[in-house]
Amino acid sequence: MTSLLEHPRGAAPGQPGDRSAFSFEQHVRLPDSPTGKGRGGARYGRTGIIHTPHGDIKTPAFVPVATQAAMKAVLPEQMTQLGAQCLLSNAFHLFERPGPDVLDKAGGLAKFMNWDGPTFTDSGGFQVMSLGVGFKKTLAMDVTGMKSDDVIAKGHDRLAFVDEDGVTFKSPLNGSLHRFSAEISMGIQHQLGADIMFAFDELTTLMNTRRYQEESVERTFRWAKRCVAEHQRLTAGRLGRPYQALYGVVQGANYEDLRRRASAQISSLDFDGVGIGGAMEKRIIGDICAWICDEMPEERPRHVLGIAAVDDIFACAENGGDTFDCVAPARCGRNGAIFTRDGRYNIKRAANKYDFGPLEEGCTCYTCTHYSRAYVDHLLRSHEMNGFTLATIHNEHFFVTLLDEIRASIDGGYFDEYRGETLARFYANGSRG
Ligand SMILES: [Zn+2]
Repeated sequence: MTSLLEHPRGAAPGQPGDRSAFSFEQHVRLPDSPTGKGRGGARYGRTGIIHTPHGDIKTPAFVPVATQAAMKAVLPEQMTQLGAQCLLSNAFHLFERPGPDVLDKAGGLAKFMNWDGPTFTDSGGFQVMSLGVGFKKTLAMDVTGMKSDDVIAKGHDRLAFVDEDGVTFKSPLNGSLHRFSAEISMGIQHQLGADIMFAFDELTTLMNTRRYQEESVERTFRWAKRCVAEHQRLTAGRLGRPYQALYGVVQGANYEDLRRRASAQISSLDFDGVGIGGAMEKRIIGDICAWICDEMPEERPRHVLGIAAVDDIFACAENGGDTFDCVAPARCGRNGAIFTRDGRYNIKRAANKYDFGPLEEGCTCYTCTHYSRAYVDHLLRSHEMNGFTLATIHNEHFFVTLLDEIRASIDGGYFDEYRGETLARFYANGSRG
């Protein structure tokens, strides 16, 4: 079998990347329903395959986050073994360290980290704009009781400033001043060499005024046009490299008219797919996906950026999300929070000290088939690295498998039943996440 890591599709010496190496093939779509949130009761949830130069992604799919070209405490080989199809890294972090030219010289993100599969990079906008500001790391949030001041973390100054052309910010690593813009983000992401990249957009919070959200949607549209132009220029000039797909990002917070307008604007440009981004209130996360899908061509794949919880994944998958990235499994795992079919529990409970069973009864992951709760509990209490590894493997496997099962349920025509049973069981004990 040819390693796509060494020979990505659509790359030929002396030639620009061949765009036909990236495409989306739709398989089964959920039937319309009286409760469907799309126009005329449409439900946009579907199965399919995203073909990329470094391999295929069967969708809906979970995308683990390898922030700095690494899953914390878990090797890429182990990610493959647990069923992960693709990984997402952060352009901003890799821009700061080691620098995008290092990845370019290494042959791109996948080869640099020895991951034989598709990769994504975000635009860096989220990290740049949330510098020094206490933005939540995920998009779906419960804003009950939150005030505008709550978005600035105590004791922090705002380190990023948005203007018409881009964003100026202070590096959290060394305090030096940097600039991000549409062209700079595209340049960095082309050097990083992921299969799927995102256009540089402005991130707002749910606390911004309606007027600011409107201005921001228009500014994001202007930046999107510049991203497409720069992307095409770079694609034509960087010979011998595989084609990198570019997704436009739809903003508009909780406003239906803004989301629809932004979706139509982004869809009018020559993007390969769409990113559903920005702040969203949890209670309408499915509606927002449906509004966006109403206004865009069905043949483009859709990625939901920064998903937060199990019920959000179902809402987004039902309403058109094809891929979902989430930092929760790894971050929670390192803190001892273990995801199971019966909800989330903390392994550092006294009851687990003598529990020699697996983290989750019936789980087929490497951790559960080889190690006990008591041992993982001991490792995490002792801050042993292996504890991070074992907990992360189990949690990532939980989410990857959840999406595999959602995919099977759409193909098999039993999505509604599967969702009902899974959510009832997961939240039966008032579990978070
Ligand atoms: Zn497990």
